[in-house]
Amino acid sequence: DATALIDELRAKLSPRGDIVSEAGRQRTIALFGEALSPQQVVERICGDVKTRGLDALLHYTEKLDRKALTRESMRVPAEELAAAHAKASPEFLQTLRHIRANIEEFQKAILVHDAGVKRPAGKGTIELRQRYLPLRRIGVCVPGGAAAYPSTLLMTIVPAQVAGVKEIAVVVPPTDFGAYNIDVLATCHELGVTEVYRVGGAQAVAAMAYGVDGLPQVDKIVGPGNLFVALAKKHVYGEVDIDSIAGPSEVVVLADDTARADFVASDLISQAEHSPGSGVLITWHEPLISAVRDELTKQLARLERGDLAARSLTDYSALILARDAAEAARLTDLFAPEHLHISTAAPEAMVAGIQNAGAIFLGHYTPVAMGDYVAGPSHVLPTGGTARFANGLCANDFLKRSSLIAYDAQSLAADAPHVQRMADKEGLTAHRASVDIRLP
Ligand code: NAD
Repeated sequence: DATALIDELRAKLSPRGDIVSEAGRQRTIALFGEALSPQQVVERICGDVKTRGLDALLHYTEKLDRKALTRESMRVPAEELAAAHAKASPEFLQTLRHIRANIEEFQKAILVHDAGVKRPAGKGTIELRQRYLPLRRIGVCVPGGAAAYPSTLLMTIVPAQVAGVKEIAVVVPPTDFGAYNIDVLATCHELGVTEVYRVGGAQAVAAMAYGVDGLPQVDKIVGPGNLFVALAKKHVYGEVDIDSIAGPSEVVVLADDTARADFVASDLISQAEHSPGSGVLITWHEPLISAVRDELTKQLARLERGDLAARSLTDYSALILARDAAEAARLTDLFAPEHLHISTAAPEAMVAGIQNAGAIFLGHYTPVAMGDYVAGPSHVLPTGGTARFANGLCANDFLKRSSLIAYDAQSLAADAPHVQRMADKEGLTAHRASVDIRLP
């Protein structure tokens, strides 16, 4: 039963704080003297950073990331950023610039602008406007445990810069794949980011949310991370804004008889490679199922991270045979994938029937990697079924809006009876009085 299978996958793919591995248990006993769930660990760390500030940030960085840092050494010096950039290959810099230009072009095109109406009222006018301004200061989480992610910097920072955000702080764990990674530092420098801190995990999220000595508070925290980062973002939401609570990466590939099994298998493996990651094929062309299964075996054998991807495919993935295209679309909506790849003869026709997907990739020649790395929309996307209501990150997420309302004496008089009536109903006599006092 495909519906039950999708429910089961969804349950497994949600970012869960209540599952404790044996290694995690031992770690928290060493750290806190008792076994705690990741949820409880995050509450402790965030609470501690909130009350003890910089000391707690440095304490957890030492305990969890095995780096003894100070207020000064936790920040990457400007010379180190410049030196990394100077060492970067011209080809890498060219790629960064190409991608940045693509992101800028797209994000500028979708930027919202001030809008409003002028409404005549009596002998006067009411002017109404919505004004957008960039957030003043944001924080970006860049992961650093399992691999280096310069692409994450591009896909978060460039949209923020297009929106006009001036202050951008980057936190990245003090690891070889993180704050000591030359590609990550070179990318920061290329993007003009000067505030880079060698801290990660829940403690870095808490530091940005509450502000600590040497790392001032931000207004919004964006960017991906492991479960501790995700739970910490959830914890501090309200104190600051966040983009989303991200779980493992996922793709649904919708394929008909024009899809190539080798292409489809490569699409599923490319998400599974995230480990954990999920790749789900939904097709109504039965022969594709066994052809893709054979291709998966073949391609996994050749892949560097093949064993990791194979585990994700076993644990979090599925090959689903739907009755027809309509059922495939219904199942896709139920899954509400982060990435949807429509590998059919007429992908545009299928798009119309689908409501829930973070990013949609159309046609046989648009693998998800094009969007992950180069196209222009951000690869920070809603996971875990949240595409039902949430959106991928974009420049507009770095804007805040105020409504502007202006009456003159005549338009006030024209609308006054409605205020008086509503205020009387609600018993808010001072509201009414503030209008009455202005009437002739
Ligand atoms: P990370 O860099 O996000 O976090 C590492 C930090 O977690 C450590 O510095 C430590 O402080 C903390 N931590 C680790 N174990 C802990 C424990 N037991 N208790 C308390 N804190 C602990 O981690 P990562 O391993 O690099 O994972 C990155 C995740 O982000 C992966 O799941 C990856 O797939 C995902 N990712 C997503 C995207 C995207 O845009 N969708 C891009 C890159 C990475």
